[in-house]
Amino acid sequence: MIDLAVDPVLAWASGRRDDLPWRRTRDPWAVLVSELMLQQTQVARVVPRFTQFLERFPTVSVCASAGVGAVVEEWAGLGYNRRAVNLHRAAVEVAERHDGAFPADLDALLALPGVGPYTARAVLAFAFELDAAVVDTNVGRVLARQVGERLTPKVAQSIADALVPTGRGWAWNQAMLDLGALVCTKRSPTCMECPVRSSCAWFVAGSPEPDPAIGSAGVSSGQSRFEGSFRQGRARLLDELRSGTVVAPAQFVQACGWAERDDGERDAQRAAVSLVADGLAVLTDEGSLRLP
Ligand code: SF4
Repeated sequence: MIDLAVDPVLAWASGRRDDLPWRRTRDPWAVLVSELMLQQTQVARVVPRFTQFLERFPTVSVCASAGVGAVVEEWAGLGYNRRAVNLHRAAVEVAERHDGAFPADLDALLALPGVGPYTARAVLAFAFELDAAVVDTNVGRVLARQVGERLTPKVAQSIADALVPTGRGWAWNQAMLDLGALVCTKRSPTCMECPVRSSCAWFVAGSPEPDPAIGSAGVSSGQSRFEGSFRQGRARLLDELRSGTVVAPAQFVQACGWAERDDGERDAQRAAVSLVADGLAVLTDEGSLRLP
């Protein structure tokens, strides 16, 4: 399926690894927090927020017994706020169904709210040091280019699974993530620095268009524009709630920053409804919005 040599990748990665706080821990709660934060948010922004979050919610039990509103509040500025709700729900589930101890089992992890195939395997590999293989946008890109074709999720996962060297799951996954992030980058891969270019079908073929990574399993197509978007107005409304304000229906449009827009009222209403649907806000008896 793929002839990617493991040792050169491990050798390339050793000594190059950034000292990131989540790489110093094997606590599954801390690993889960870091993985959810790192989805959609840049590493540099996550580093201080990860530490701050764990100071407030050092264990799964502390988080579970806090209200979801406290977690949403702590998530301010990280974006994609549904992750905060999912993290709290996962904490409650682990506290109630697993006695506060994360299961070292793929299916049990996948059953947790907001935990998908990548995150579940990340907890197995980075907390429990098991030989699970993660396929995120960086790893997915490396695999597709190595094979030289767009991969389905099933094929990408099975290739990744087969590559993990026995007993080296933690180091291997970190190495593959770094290879994708630092060398096999989206727009300008530095193939001459790549430790596995000789096995790379795309490189050997002269990197023809189209890039097989585009549309391949695990490879994200990038985030849509935030400025001026529905997400931006919704985020403003949520920030208003985070400041402790209870927002009345007549104020939704101002809170979203859409008072001047023709469809501002309608979209502000939609934003309020979607915050409630996502568990990020609740309606009072008067129809006002507040944090849960
Ligand atoms: S040779 Fe280039 S395209 Fe292939 S895996 Fe390495 S960096 Fe990526």
